[in-house]
Amino acid sequence: MPGSEITPVRFRNSDGETADGSLFTTVHSAGERIQRALLWLALLWVLAGVSLFIPLAHFVLVPGFLIAGPVVAVMVYRSEWARERAEGKCPVCGEEATIKLEARDEIPKWIYCPACNAALQITEPD
Ligand SMILES: [Zn+2]
Repeated sequence: MPGSEITPVRFRNSDGETADGSLFTTVHSAGERIQRALLWLALLWVLAGVSLFIPLAHFVLVPGFLIAGPVVAVMVYRSEWARERAEGKCPVCGEEATIKLEARDEIPKWIYCPACNAALQITEPD
């Protein structure tokens, strides 16, 4: 099971008003990273094997999947964490906001409040 990490963050608008929030991050252990990397390698090489039987396209697909396998496996192995979401009160409208984040998002990050559409910055707490 991947571990989950909750870190305190601060939502700040352009006028300097702030509110506290939480940042949810999935943390992958070394064993999980190896497992996920091998899974991706196997998947892409199986796709290379399947695409052998597609006329003409196999000239591109087979070498493409064979090369993509180890490349993607290394990328997956190197990713030690993945951002999930940020939760907290919007400093502008006061609504409880849950913002979905991309896996590679870094803090500080500008987002929009889903309730009032105000531009907010997710930052480290002072
Ligand atoms: Zn808002």
